[in-house]
Amino acid sequence: MEYDPNNVFAKILRREIPAKIVYEDPHALAFHDIQPQAPVHVLVIPKGAYLDWPDFAARASDAEMAGFIRAVAETARLLGVEAAGYRVLSNIGADGGQEVPHLHLHIFGGRKLGRMVPAAG
Ligand code: AMP
Repeated sequence: MEYDPNNVFAKILRREIPAKIVYEDPHALAFHDIQPQAPVHVLVIPKGAYLDWPDFAARASDAEMAGFIRAVAETARLLGVEAAGYRVLSNIGADGGQEVPHLHLHIFGGRKLGRMVPAAG
């Protein structure tokens, strides 16, 4: 699949649609999920045009990778969830349930998060 520059997160990066931004640096942007599934639910995206985690792993520079990983940790720190703990998750492809085709890591926190993966069915 080719990267679609009109996906919703590309539009957020270009400031064509609004987002509640938590953190930004040269490599990454973090903003609140529009349909939060936990008291804290924030998405962190790289600024480069990457479809998903395998695409990022294959094509991103070492600086982009390091910057993105640091941005995720920094966002969690700014959100105040570091002490109590939190979850980082990325959905990939159809089985993963990925809806937006621009790499994003979800940060969930603010309560006990329960089972990591719900039962199948
Ligand atoms: P995923 O299933 O991992 O692709 O998750 C996509 C996430 O993006 C969902 O949790 C959506 O609620 C969220 N989302 C979709 N559109 C927006 C938007 N405009 N601003 C913030 N979050 C969004």
